[in-house]
Amino acid sequence: MASGLKACVVGSGSNGLSAAIVLAQAGIEVDVFEAEQIPGGATRSMELTLPGFIHDFGSAVYALAAGSPFFSTLPLRDHGLEWVHSPAPLAHPLDDGTAVMLERDLAVTAAALHEDGPPWLELMEPLVKGWRDFAPEVLGPVLKIPKHPWLLARFGMNALRSAKALASRFKNERTRALFAGLAAHSFLSLDEPLSGAFGILMAVPAHAVGFPVARRGSQSITNALCGYLAKLGGKVTTSSRVESLDALAGYELILCDLTPRQLLAVAGQELSEEYKRRLRKFRYGPGAFKVDYALNAPIPWKASQCMRAATVHLGGSFDEIAASEKAVRSGKHPERPFVLLAQPTLFDSSRAPAGKHTAWAYCHVPNGSTFDMLSRLEAQIERFAPGFRETVLARHVLFPSGLESMDANLVGGDIAGGVIDLRQMIFRPTAKLYETSARGVYLCSSSTPPGGGVHGMCGFHAARRALARLQRLKR
Ligand SMILES: Cc1cc2nc3c(=O)[nH]c(=O)nc-3n(C[C@H](O)[C@H](O)[C@H](O)COP(=O)(O)OP(=O)(O)OC[C@H]3O[C@@H](n4cnc5c(N)ncnc54)[C@H](O)[C@@H]3O)c2cc1C
Repeated sequence: MASGLKACVVGSGSNGLSAAIVLAQAGIEVDVFEAEQIPGGATRSMELTLPGFIHDFGSAVYALAAGSPFFSTLPLRDHGLEWVHSPAPLAHPLDDGTAVMLERDLAVTAAALHEDGPPWLELMEPLVKGWRDFAPEVLGPVLKIPKHPWLLARFGMNALRSAKALASRFKNERTRALFAGLAAHSFLSLDEPLSGAFGILMAVPAHAVGFPVARRGSQSITNALCGYLAKLGGKVTTSSRVESLDALAGYELILCDLTPRQLLAVAGQELSEEYKRRLRKFRYGPGAFKVDYALNAPIPWKASQCMRAATVHLGGSFDEIAASEKAVRSGKHPERPFVLLAQPTLFDSSRAPAGKHTAWAYCHVPNGSTFDMLSRLEAQIERFAPGFRETVLARHVLFPSGLESMDANLVGGDIAGGVIDLRQMIFRPTAKLYETSARGVYLCSSSTPPGGGVHGMCGFHAARRALARLQRLKR
């Protein structure tokens, strides 16, 4: 479309690389500048504990990547990406020594939920069946003319409700607990509007595409994106932090895989005062306190069903998870945190020496927290897997500041690029969305729609906006 043009992308997270691919596909020469030594941002893996143990530094489980409308158009398999599915996407153990299972098959899940099967189906089934049409509708800007209004209306009917309100349709505490764990991915309090939408938005892809991990670790996703970008002629330069956009004067288009605070730092002089005022109002969300484990054995779950799932939610009942998330939203550290845990080596032996395992776990904490949650996080694992601590060969702890030091976009440990409440879902990060007040400068990180998660859709939409604008200017 526009050969002869030069563009650059600041940051090589999944959104930066997606933006670069869209531009390169349009015939534009693209350079990507990455601050860290290896590309990928929060989609990287590394030996964080012991030699031979590969850990996912950030993201680990990939419903949205496997179900991404953009990624599904790319030949990522040809560039080494392979999804590994556990037999069940998710397990949620309870204190009675059993686990509620979210199975890939909707009907099997519904049958196991007994009297809550029909309301589970009513909530999920149309969206699971229509995932291919539904995904592009929800993974983009909110304000648009929908191509599938019926599906969106189905979702919209419930989307604004809180998880607490939606869970009230379930009679069984087990189902309510399962839904709470899914909704807690929102980082919202479970009585806040929109928190219910996250419960649905996590469960629907779990049924439709599964919760896979990437063979050999998350880096395989980034490597596949980089491999395809290189084939299109794009170039990624690492260890190259952009301190000011002044250094990028030769580029007609600049796409920033940055959050608002960083955009202000690198582009401050080029932005209008009004736009800067709006960016400063952008709110970051709670942080994550993360621990990676090297283990000498699989986790000794009381509920053996947990061995069937790569992802395990630890928090017990709905009320307990709700209390944990409410505490975090009000700046406190829960005594019994909700813990998200992944155990990839049960299904992907390439990440650890023979017979050994890894685990990835985090809980939510207030933004920028310096409180040590290790004993509370491990108490939650021990509660459902007594003897867990004896399996630990080594652990690597990342406080919010540690996360941010390895990826500047994780401001205060916020893994989602900013709170996603109603206002910041629609105007993300401002009403201009991907555009900024500076000509040719765009934002393409998870601080733009649709927000956090590895799906590449922020980068995809940002680059499409930039291309559309270019075309309008050429006319
Ligand atoms: C602990 C954790 C767990 C998560 N779990 C999951 C999960 O299981 N599944 C899921 O889908 N999502 C998960 N996420 C969220 C997901 O990883 C992010 O939403 C996603 O990575 C956002 O991609 P991005 O491209 O917007 O930003 P990032 O991946 O953060 O990439 C931004 C890049 O920009 C670079 N950069 C920043 N400033 C500069 C600069 N000035 N110059 C040059 N480069 C710069 C950074 O180094 C980084 O490489 C998790 C994140 C974390 C941290």
